[in-house]
Amino acid sequence: MTPRLWATITLIVLIVAAAAVALLRVPWSAAPAPRADQLAALDTLPRDAVAQGRAFHGALRPGMYISIVLGLVVALLLGLTPAGSWLVEQAGRPFGGHWLARALLGGLLVTLIGEVVALPLSAWRQSILREYGLSTQGWGAWTVDLLKGYAVGAVIGAVVLVGFYTVTHFAPTWWWAWAAAGAAALTVLLTFVFPVLVEPVFNKFTPMPEGEQRTALMALAARDGVPVRDVLIADASRRTRAVNAYVSGLGPTRRIVVYDTLLEKAPPPEVESVVAHELGHAKAGDVLTGTLLGALGAAAAVCALYLLGSWTALLRLARVDSIAEPRALALLLAVATVASLVAGPAQAFISRRVEARADTHALTLTADPTDFEAMQGRLALVNLGDPDPNPLEQFLFGTHPTAVERMAAAKAWSRAHP
Ligand SMILES: [Zn+2]
Repeated sequence: MTPRLWATITLIVLIVAAAAVALLRVPWSAAPAPRADQLAALDTLPRDAVAQGRAFHGALRPGMYISIVLGLVVALLLGLTPAGSWLVEQAGRPFGGHWLARALLGGLLVTLIGEVVALPLSAWRQSILREYGLSTQGWGAWTVDLLKGYAVGAVIGAVVLVGFYTVTHFAPTWWWAWAAAGAAALTVLLTFVFPVLVEPVFNKFTPMPEGEQRTALMALAARDGVPVRDVLIADASRRTRAVNAYVSGLGPTRRIVVYDTLLEKAPPPEVESVVAHELGHAKAGDVLTGTLLGALGAAAAVCALYLLGSWTALLRLARVDSIAEPRALALLLAVATVASLVAGPAQAFISRRVEARADTHALTLTADPTDFEAMQGRLALVNLGDPDPNPLEQFLFGTHPTAVERMAAAKAWSRAHP
């Protein structure tokens, strides 16, 4: 069998495996949220706050679409013309065109161009966040965050670039197999180390102090049968007025994190409701599901890239001889950009289903639909969310059910559990 045939078989196996994970671990039936209940929920929210949320999203919208289109245009301009391969050559020139210099410096240069183009749009977004009072950050702190983000991106990018092109250099025939395994392994590794290596770069995390609230939350976790060592508080208020909570990490690095803003703004029963939702993610192993899907998807993407490498017309556009050479890295980024745009709505769909399951879990665990509903309303308003957004945008980008859907689901739950 040829490597090409092996790659095709591997790709099919990976896609089937990802489909199996999705089928088995993603809840495909959604909690009921009748539209009439959604509209009734919308009516309970203060009208001026809803209008404010809509105005905020209206202000963000042009920048968001421009940045998607611009990102795509830049990626295609660099990847599907000789511009990308030329840039990579220039980056490697001081080192005699060594493959490693081309891979590392060329890769960082090409991604830096994307970042620089996106910078004015990020600044525009930040100015809107400040104007609406959601951001608590001055421009100095915002710039520090931006630089930290670049640094983290550069470190991860360097690992990926050096790893990938070392493999293509030393295993010119079977690189795709090694790179697929490496991509999957890196995805898993990043999930483990992210909470302990990356999150602390941006925020301070402190264990919730002993007291009534901590005791109540730990009792909730114990009642749920989810082993939780601690609930951590993130100093989110240094950046935002928004309230949130999340669960991240796997095994020994798993943690439930609540924003300090949440503790400040929400009464204890609502905080319990939020933590119960996060416990739902922990209990269902949603981080593991996401990691498995990510790892299989990354490996499949490498196989697909390898197969795409025999499409000579594509290589000719970028003026490269092989998809595995560093000069083709802008072409790889262009393909990756298109692929991630196409995959976005599917990811959002899976995320919404997983989130709806965590909501149902919170309702079952707390048996307190009233505070759940109040919390959803608060989340939407404090975070300047649009509680009932445009259905097309919700389909494309919505990672959670809408606020009115979540409130209606609470109504449906309380009707089913009188
Ligand atoms: Zn969630």
